[in-house]
Amino acid sequence: MDEEALMNVHDEDVTSQAGPSTIPAVTANDRPEGMSKNAMKRAAKQARMEELKPLKRAAEKARRRERQSALSKGYAEGTLTEEDKAIYEKRKQLERDRKASKRKFDNGTLNDGESWSGGVVLDLGFDDLMNEQEISSMTSQIAYCYSSNRTVTKPIKSIIHTSFSPSASPRLWTKMSDRNWHRWSRSVWWHQGVKELSAALSSSSPSDITFSSNPMEPLDAGHSIGDRAGEGEEKKEGINLENYLTGPKLPEGLKSGTHKLVYLSADAEEELTTLSEDEVYVIGGIVDRNRYKNLCQNKAELLGIRTARLPIGQFIDNLPTRKVLTVNQVFDILLQYIQQNDWRKAFETVIPQRKYHESKKAKHAHNAQLQQQQQQTGSSGIQADVPCQASDNEDPVDVDTGLDSAEIIVQNERT
Ligand code: SAH
Repeated sequence: MDEEALMNVHDEDVTSQAGPSTIPAVTANDRPEGMSKNAMKRAAKQARMEELKPLKRAAEKARRRERQSALSKGYAEGTLTEEDKAIYEKRKQLERDRKASKRKFDNGTLNDGESWSGGVVLDLGFDDLMNEQEISSMTSQIAYCYSSNRTVTKPIKSIIHTSFSPSASPRLWTKMSDRNWHRWSRSVWWHQGVKELSAALSSSSPSDITFSSNPMEPLDAGHSIGDRAGEGEEKKEGINLENYLTGPKLPEGLKSGTHKLVYLSADAEEELTTLSEDEVYVIGGIVDRNRYKNLCQNKAELLGIRTARLPIGQFIDNLPTRKVLTVNQVFDILLQYIQQNDWRKAFETVIPQRKYHESKKAKHAHNAQLQQQQQQTGSSGIQADVPCQASDNEDPVDVDTGLDSAEIIVQNERT
């Protein structure tokens, strides 16, 4: 299919243009024992959706490019309305700013004051709690965090990814292998977990801790991290990716005895009022559509780490106080707060207003349906969670991370 044809493609067209599915039709005999007919149908549908994804992405990209070139043409010919002209100019300015920030970020030419010297941790110690699709989504979210950090004026100095190795997170490790993570600036990768990070930050003896001036400086050869699940898979173009795991060296700028860990959790009692450059904020690296309640709150309590939630309820009228967001949304909110020093603006930049209404509307519709069912069946009914999908992030494809437009899954909300 050429690009022009793709431009006119909508979801239904994608389905019809994709041709016959390569996924075999399911018959009663194929059904594994114990799997219901409906579950089988759902699995087949899911597989078909996966098959269509690249086509949908290509169509969306082509549509976006077409919109942009129409704007460019109109701008050059002076035929745009005032509104479109303003949109075009704003986009161009944004693009210039992003390019300048990326250049500085990648060249490492940011001065001290230009980056935020606190830290953010993505705790990747939940590999075994996610299904394959959630692992994929998690991989994209990790890449989105890096990508966001590259494009802001004041990036976070270090993003530490803990529990990342063939043995600590085997499926994430494999899925991340085509993301070039070992070349990401300001990103540090540890086999060790949050527990060891907590120990490194609170160690009183400086001789216990080693510092890495270059967070991406590979460790000495022979560095061992225990069991080696997936041996061989971690080799990329002759590089042993395990050499890029730098724990338990603290990245430059993070100081033992000064920097304190705060585990972020929607279930925390404490609400964040501000962010401090003496703190390191941990985000639980899991996509679970809220299957595991209190997961990160409990983990932090066990490790004796302070917990806090984002001040959503205070600033956003239409969202519940304990709304559970995705990893990259939480990361982006922190990043935006660092840029704008204003929670409301940070929330509004990351979660467009429209989404609150959509999610509220979806919930109302769902509740109405439940009520109706209850009236019909006389049952008490359980308040089910309402997942809300958003896919309108129009970030351009990022060559370093292999990212296409974002597919953000808003995790379910606590009531
Ligand atoms: N069921 C998981 C939810 C994970 S959501 C749990 O109980 O922890 C992924 C991560 O995003 C969380 O671990 C938390 O670190 C962060 N997060 C999501 N919503 C948040 C909120 N409202 N306030 C603070 N952190 C939040």
